[in-house]
Amino acid sequence: MAEKIVAPPRLVKRKSSDASSQAQTAQRPPARRRRIPYTRAEIAEIFRRFAVQRPEPKGELEHSNPFTLLVAVVLSAQATDVGVNKATRELFQIADTPRKMAALGEDTIRGHIRTIGLYRNKARNVAALARTLVEQHGGEVPRDRAGLEALPGVGRKTASVVLNSAFGEDTLAVDTHILRLGNRLKLAPGKTPEAVEAGLLKVIPKPYLRHAHHWLILHGRYVCKARKPDCEACVIADLCKADVKTSDVPAPLRELPPSPLPEPTASG
Ligand code: SF4
Repeated sequence: MAEKIVAPPRLVKRKSSDASSQAQTAQRPPARRRRIPYTRAEIAEIFRRFAVQRPEPKGELEHSNPFTLLVAVVLSAQATDVGVNKATRELFQIADTPRKMAALGEDTIRGHIRTIGLYRNKARNVAALARTLVEQHGGEVPRDRAGLEALPGVGRKTASVVLNSAFGEDTLAVDTHILRLGNRLKLAPGKTPEAVEAGLLKVIPKPYLRHAHHWLILHGRYVCKARKPDCEACVIADLCKADVKTSDVPAPLRELPPSPLPEPTASG
């Protein structure tokens, strides 16, 4: 019989001062492991198909180096990638390095990004971010999580995207699409992005981790959509265990463009 994947047991917190509670906890049977309804082979097959569709998937935020990617990701919180790209095309033409961005200053940055939600805060963060990179990192984007997360406006998710897309690390940034897919498909059920991230990192086969982030985002954005999943267009419909699925027949497997967004034209 094929081996089932199991999620890690939940840790039981114990109060060190409560001896009887400790004794009871010690006698309790081990916490039951939560099963996910896929075999290892099924999960490998899901990601093999994503890899056939997009062997080298690309994110949809336009950038030319680790710094412009970092800025674009900071700007993308509560904004669409299309909206961010529109604002950054001009900004990155005049400031594609921390030094140039720091020289631009907060007011000018704000003028360029005012079409994006929360632009005042974001302009402040981008200006501070650029200054910090110049003053503390020699104008380079740090390649480690601690260095990235210490930068203004940069949290775990942003750091994961940069580590993955700019530096080729096997990180997985859980956005709204991946949070939904982890739960809907029952691949990595969890209430928080951190829980879903931990679950996915555990079950996705190592060779597929590098691109899993982009595959899942693109699948969630264009096929397994929030309101109405397009199961007839889904290449994993036969494997999917989602309660909401409406088809068991997988869509034909063929290679697709690395990113569904059209390349920008000269006029933007
Ligand atoms: S079959 Fe439907 S619910 Fe399952 S992954 Fe595909 S689109 Fe989503």
